[in-house]
Amino acid sequence: MKPNFQPKDIEKTIKDLTEEGLKIANLASQGHDWESVVTPLDQMEFELGQHTSVNSHLNSVMFNEEFNAEYEKTLPLITNFYSEVSTNKTLYEAYKNLRNTSLNEQQRHIVKESIESFKLSGVGLEGEQSDRFKAIKERLSLLSNQFSKNALKATNEWKKTLTEAELEGYGENELAKVKTKDGYEISLQVPVYMDVMTYAKNQTLREEVYKAYISRASEVGITSTEFDNKAIMDEILSLRQEMATILGFGNYADLSIEGKMVESTEQVIDFLNDLVDRSKTQAQQELDELQLFAGVELMPWDLMYYSEQLKEKKFGFKKSELTPYFPEKKVLSGLFSTIENLYGISLREIEEKTYHADVKVLEITNPDGLVGRIYLDVYAREDKRGGAWMADYQALVNENKPVAFVVCNLNSPTEGKPALFEFDEIVTLFHEFGHALHHVLTKVPYPSAAGIAGVPWDGVELPSQY
Ligand SMILES: [Zn+2]
Repeated sequence: MKPNFQPKDIEKTIKDLTEEGLKIANLASQGHDWESVVTPLDQMEFELGQHTSVNSHLNSVMFNEEFNAEYEKTLPLITNFYSEVSTNKTLYEAYKNLRNTSLNEQQRHIVKESIESFKLSGVGLEGEQSDRFKAIKERLSLLSNQFSKNALKATNEWKKTLTEAELEGYGENELAKVKTKDGYEISLQVPVYMDVMTYAKNQTLREEVYKAYISRASEVGITSTEFDNKAIMDEILSLRQEMATILGFGNYADLSIEGKMVESTEQVIDFLNDLVDRSKTQAQQELDELQLFAGVELMPWDLMYYSEQLKEKKFGFKKSELTPYFPEKKVLSGLFSTIENLYGISLREIEEKTYHADVKVLEITNPDGLVGRIYLDVYAREDKRGGAWMADYQALVNENKPVAFVVCNLNSPTEGKPALFEFDEIVTLFHEFGHALHHVLTKVPYPSAAGIAGVPWDGVELPSQY
């Protein structure tokens, strides 16, 4: 269950695995029951998935040009492989015939979902249309990688050197985070950005950093236009529309919700409008109060700063006074004991070499033995994609226990001091662990419905709330 974090020759590995995979899919298409159709495909995808998930994980958390170039070569191979399998008409018929065989409830569900996904993958298309559909998918996989690459590079590119005086409003902990050998340097990493917005008294500085942050990878703003994502986004949008049209949908949103819990795009719009109706009055009141307190016309880069000041005045509450109570060790032991109490499992950190010294390897056990593993990569770091997420390395398959990757971009330790987490960061950490537990605590032994697999994507946020 230990992932190989030093993959070699990834293009060749994926090429070999997908070629072998197509042979297995062709054999499976001749099958007539669960064991001869689904089981071999699951086994093959399980192995392929271990490779693709590690490659995509490393590309997201340890970005480097050389690996990314190799990684990019694997994307068309993987996309085309899945296109071939999901448009294999004989295999589609084999799945449909499984409905007349003896299946348990979970198997029946998987077969039903698979048949739906064959349709959305274009199994019903013929000739030129089918080729065009596959070409769009291949192109989209490359565009998505380019989009992420630009976003990451634009974030990493921007830096600014400052003196302590220019960082007026900062406390000792915030200063420690941006201290360099000769002074202070701020960047667009989330924990650093949030500190500028919350504490920096200098409005011009807040404005500059805000504009740099929101205009990353665009044609406007402060960061380099070299990483402009506009053309990429335009192409993604137009290809998605074309895909939807080919499949007979009015637009991409209609295609996208087909496999989700929500029933129509109108339902989504109604939900959002309802949210606005219910929250706008309160939000307006709070904004008016903040405006009055600030005494200046509030700009977007003023909101967090003045909110913090107002909270201090009204409630004697200072965010920065809270963080010393949340050093990483305490937060993690609180998180682990909450999970242990809720689910009757235990979490233990084990020593294992991964791809970065900061990664924690957590083994999860229950009274019957090993349940699974979580690889936790907590701190913000250059060359790591922004945001927080959970990804699966493997699902529960036979004797193989589920393994999940949890990635965050939280405050890191500073010289001689442990990482101190903000309250919002702790919420993020708990949330991502919710996703990981959903994946790891599964009892479903079929990989296409185990853990987070096969869950409608608008439903996956429910289990992560505990
Ligand atoms: Zn989530």
